[in-house]
Amino acid sequence: MSQIAITVDGAQLSVESDQRPTHIFADAKDVVVCKVNGVLKDLWTDLADGDVVESITISSPDGLAVLRHSTAHVMAQAVQEVYADTKLGIGPPIKDGFYYDFDPKSTFTPDDLPKIESAMRKIIKDGQRFKRRVTTESDALKELASEPYKCELIGIKGSAGEEASVEVGGAELTIYDNLGRDGNPVWSDLCRGPHLPSTKHIPAFKLMRTAAAYWRGSEKNPMLQRIYGTAWPSQDELNAYLELLAEAEKRDHRRLGTELDLFSFPEEIGSGLAVFHPKGGIVRRAMEDYSRIRHEEEGYEFVYSPHLTKAALFETSGHLQWYADGMYPPMILDEEHNPDGTIKRAGQQYFMKPMNCPFHNLIYKSRGRSYRELPLRLFEFGTVYRYEKSGVLHGITRARGFTQDDAHIYCTKEQMVGELDSLLTFVLNLLRDYGLNDFYLELSTKNPEKFVGADSDWVEATEALRKAATAQNLELVLDEGGAAFYGPKISVQAKDAIGRTWQMSTIQVDFQLPQRFELEYSATDGTRQRPVMIHRALFGSIERFFGVLTEHYSGAFPPWLAPVQAIGIPVADTFSDYLGDVIKQMRKAGIRAELDSSDDRMQKKVRNAQMQKIPFMVIAGEEDQKAGAVSFRYRNGEQKNGIPINDAIAEIKKAVQERIQV
Ligand SMILES: [Zn+2]
Ligand SMILES: [Zn+2]
Repeated sequence: MSQIAITVDGAQLSVESDQRPTHIFADAKDVVVCKVNGVLKDLWTDLADGDVVESITISSPDGLAVLRHSTAHVMAQAVQEVYADTKLGIGPPIKDGFYYDFDPKSTFTPDDLPKIESAMRKIIKDGQRFKRRVTTESDALKELASEPYKCELIGIKGSAGEEASVEVGGAELTIYDNLGRDGNPVWSDLCRGPHLPSTKHIPAFKLMRTAAAYWRGSEKNPMLQRIYGTAWPSQDELNAYLELLAEAEKRDHRRLGTELDLFSFPEEIGSGLAVFHPKGGIVRRAMEDYSRIRHEEEGYEFVYSPHLTKAALFETSGHLQWYADGMYPPMILDEEHNPDGTIKRAGQQYFMKPMNCPFHNLIYKSRGRSYRELPLRLFEFGTVYRYEKSGVLHGITRARGFTQDDAHIYCTKEQMVGELDSLLTFVLNLLRDYGLNDFYLELSTKNPEKFVGADSDWVEATEALRKAATAQNLELVLDEGGAAFYGPKISVQAKDAIGRTWQMSTIQVDFQLPQRFELEYSATDGTRQRPVMIHRALFGSIERFFGVLTEHYSGAFPPWLAPVQAIGIPVADTFSDYLGDVIKQMRKAGIRAELDSSDDRMQKKVRNAQMQKIPFMVIAGEEDQKAGAVSFRYRNGEQKNGIPINDAIAEIKKAVQERIQV
């Protein structure tokens, strides 16, 4: 046997030429796949002289994706065992799991999942090896004659979407055979791979739910049945994930939105378009009011712009060239007709605005600007409309109409560094005021293939962003080449109470729009100069931030945001008048207080207040009345008795003013 020289995880090795990664990593049980010369490969892959091999563990992002795809693969095998004649679609890994699309004889129900799971367990126990086999298009078409969807993928190889690339995205067309104990194939699937070495490397999985899904995401195609599942490197990690899901389910803002009477999505209005009810309105107004005050303190000027505009504005901005898909289709207005119905004068196209920036640029341009006015910070609670696909809509965190807390800052190049630095500090402190405290930052840098503007400008702006980010002493993640073509950006990622990450604010430098709008200012030497433009949305949108805060607090808002801050609960009817007067005093002091004057008994009233997650229950019985006092009952069930009325008012006001949680 001849020897080959290879590099394994940085070390030089000489091994026999029939050695494969699976032999080399035999002792490292958590290595499930590898990279050979930078390309992800099965551990069964052949090696050649000079290859550079890197081990990939099951817990790494690549390892998890391979684990999850391999589990999807096993699920497809199990489905075809249990429900013969089911046709296969595609089965990619997704965040925290996987899915596979099927065309079964009859629709799957939740009862099918345990049956499929138990068939999967058998396959896993069997320890079937995933064996890669290169094939040709004509052979594959013959072999897969009974799988119409797979055949379609073979036909479109190369042009298939990202998810279909799991099947046919590689340079070669490959089929994976699952080998049974006797070494013979028991099942095969058209797949690019790679996979785990064998099915027994799947430590923990669970099937989650079924859903309908159009083949390849198009409504023109047949409706298939999708099964979602999840897979993890250990049972403990699977359990932790399931617990997180259960916790997230309890906090789901869509559910709390109904339970707490905050907002709804009436059918009559349309998908993704919410109405805020009075209680949601109070939370929202409190959020907006505080934001407005802080922006004023920071030197922002408030502007307003209409919800729709003629097409020309979005032609100038470029939105119609590169963002038309995300916009509502145009309204054609002011069309004039001849008596015979033919068009005499063509109408004007009007669009709902998907972004506020072009309007702010027009405000900037409405007159000459001098360097003395810069930085000019224009702020708007600007409502925008985006035609999101119905599949991605998610309550108020992903809607079709929403209001951005949008600002555009125009400054000189010299001012950029200082402006970005103070901007980021402002953004983070404001998020902290709303109760988010755990952040990391992401810096998206130039995509060398796709950008406008001078290299030197990019370097300068990227360095300014990096400097601003580094000054915050937060973890900084590089998103190399991830910037939009018009400029680098920083995004603030915030972790919520249960550790989920939400992208919040973005600070985006823009080299393009000032050019397209020919924005200028007169500099100290009298020359005309182009300002730097910075886009900045702090909450993203008010609705989205509302949704995030609802989930973060699980609906138990801190007093300053709570729709009802205090609720009066008399121990018995006889104390209603006394307590009603206390509540009146609280309202006079600016507290959102109500008296529960329903016929319910006290215990029921306490339960209702708990369900409504009201921060202060103000209770009064005989002793309280005698002493001119009240008792507080908090959300955690703790109680404080005999608080003089003035002290009670002061405690609530303090909690509101200091924006603390109780
Ligand atoms: Zn596969
Ligand atoms: Zn903008």
